[in-house]
Amino acid sequence: MMTDRNHSTHNLFELVKNDVGSGLVARRHFSKGETIYPLSWTGHCSVPSRWTIQRGMDDHADILPIELRYVNHSCNPNVFFDVEKNELRALRDIAPGEEFRYFYPSTEWEMDEPFDCKCGEAQCCGRIEGASRMPPEVLKRYELSSVIMKKLQSRLNEASSKNIDPRNNIYRSAVDGY
Ligand SMILES: [Zn+2]
Repeated sequence: MMTDRNHSTHNLFELVKNDVGSGLVARRHFSKGETIYPLSWTGHCSVPSRWTIQRGMDDHADILPIELRYVNHSCNPNVFFDVEKNELRALRDIAPGEEFRYFYPSTEWEMDEPFDCKCGEAQCCGRIEGASRMPPEVLKRYELSSVIMKKLQSRLNEASSKNIDPRNNIYRSAVDGY
């Protein structure tokens, strides 16, 4: 597999104006599983803001390079911000000209600015407020950060401890426990 040796971002992606404001578009082909770009972090904060990504239970940070903040949401994402390996990764093959899109609740438990998604995908989740507001059945379709997985698991444990029927599967009981 070809790798970009100098990590010059303009060979890899570019910022464009689109119907939602700005977006980041691939300038070359990326293969499923490929690292698109390594991530670094700045401006750590204990609460989320519009631009931060959640890296820990109480760790929200701005992403570098700064253009990556313009990766928009989709309910059918093609990239994942891996906050453990510190890389932006392709979830499937991405063609040149295709916009990078990630699933915000894959890293965000509670979002600072919830919105009504208009991604137009068949599986669109509608209101996007963070993973805390989504049914586990929906979340399990997606790759999730370990922070989101941990928070989800503690919610499931709490729900199953209250569940009167142990034959219910864990996901069902969590939804009923809402
Ligand atoms: Zn959507």
